[in-house]
Amino acid sequence: MENLEELLVLGCGHATVTKCYNTCFAILDREREEAFLVDAGGGNGILRALREAGLPITRIHHFFITHSHTDHVLGAVWIIRDIGSKMRDGSYEGDLHIYCHAVLEQTVRALCMLTLQKKLLDFFGRRILFHRVEDGTCHQILGWRIHFFDILSTKERQYAFWMELLSGRRLIFFGDEPCHPDRKALMEDADWALCEAFCLYGERDRFRPYKKHHSTVLDACAFAEEARVKNLVLWHTEDTHIGEASGPGRVVRYLEEGRRAYHGSLYIPEDLERIAL
Ligand SMILES: [Zn+2]
Repeated sequence: MENLEELLVLGCGHATVTKCYNTCFAILDREREEAFLVDAGGGNGILRALREAGLPITRIHHFFITHSHTDHVLGAVWIIRDIGSKMRDGSYEGDLHIYCHAVLEQTVRALCMLTLQKKLLDFFGRRILFHRVEDGTCHQILGWRIHFFDILSTKERQYAFWMELLSGRRLIFFGDEPCHPDRKALMEDADWALCEAFCLYGERDRFRPYKKHHSTVLDACAFAEEARVKNLVLWHTEDTHIGEASGPGRVVRYLEEGRRAYHGSLYIPEDLERIAL
């Protein structure tokens, strides 16, 4: 059977990467030709990523923002700016639905208020609509029921989600921190898990992931193995091995380490990669 959904990776890097974009992605509903956008990276690069991916912004009506860190939320201003402009000139049909927690809504509104023209802000509450996300909130988005949950971050309030794909397979996305032990049950037996891995375990002394509440490829893989996850996608990584002159590169290095601990299908995507779900 042909896959009905596709994961479009718009960025695979952590906050300060320069060789790729910050981690953000879209889940494409191929039947509706619509996308559910999750985070937008740290700036105008989101517009470039969408263009290079061949995803017109007019196909995005549902947008979830996980938390208020720069590498996730500042691109939201650009999404709102571009969609607002298209609403004005008549080239964007329908409304933009933004899903986030209450405090984050205030942050996004404030950022927009400070940086966007009033004629765009006029769409707030009329065609740019916020939907509150709390722990256990479920929203119908395109063809899916999306179940949002608090990842229990101690750094900054952050939400993630799980969903049932049209095939019946279950996908879970964990945001940009390792799965909290109290959330492990959500991960168990997932068909797809989308998780962060900051760097190789073998390079933990160089990148110090634990200090930043991040984990390594080996850690994330061991956790997924224990939870019997079938397909694991790792991102939000460092970028020093991307395009390196000496050495096999990020993907090969990460796959090699990950496969020591994990026996399901492991994906280390690069920017603009598409994965059939
Ligand atoms: Zn991040």
